[in-house]
Amino acid sequence: MRIGQGVDVHAFQNGGTLVLGGVTIPSGRSLEAHSDGDVVLHALCDALLGAAGLGDIGRHFPPGDSAYSGIDSRVLLRSTVELLGKRQLSVVNADITIVAQSPKLAPYVQAMCAHISADLQVDADRVNVKATTTEHLGFTGREEGIAALAVVLLTE
Ligand code: MG
Repeated sequence: MRIGQGVDVHAFQNGGTLVLGGVTIPSGRSLEAHSDGDVVLHALCDALLGAAGLGDIGRHFPPGDSAYSGIDSRVLLRSTVELLGKRQLSVVNADITIVAQSPKLAPYVQAMCAHISADLQVDADRVNVKATTTEHLGFTGREEGIAALAVVLLTE
């Protein structure tokens, strides 16, 4: 077994499309990023790469590379899973926490789990996504951005 963790943060910007866990969420704001800004999938990719001993998302998908401009982060996640497959590593489970004061994410969590489990090629009950606020404290509480944390377990 190999364990990995990932953390990511992106700042809000006005307009654009908010995408979290591969799900488009109605909001007047989006997350600033070179890619689609899916902070959830970025944290998850980092956890997967960490567990595999393969560095981090920036090493495999450099933000300065125009190939990744505006890219759907599910493409990055599926590429990450391919890298694991080459090392005979598969996902046992993933647990993800989204830290956001707003918008309310509970209605979208099930759809996120469905997308993520499909991309990880595991049953939906192997993926857990939860959301919390920080009771208006800190940068997430001031709604300056969204943070995501992920832990994964891989098996050889
Ligand atoms: Mg990111």
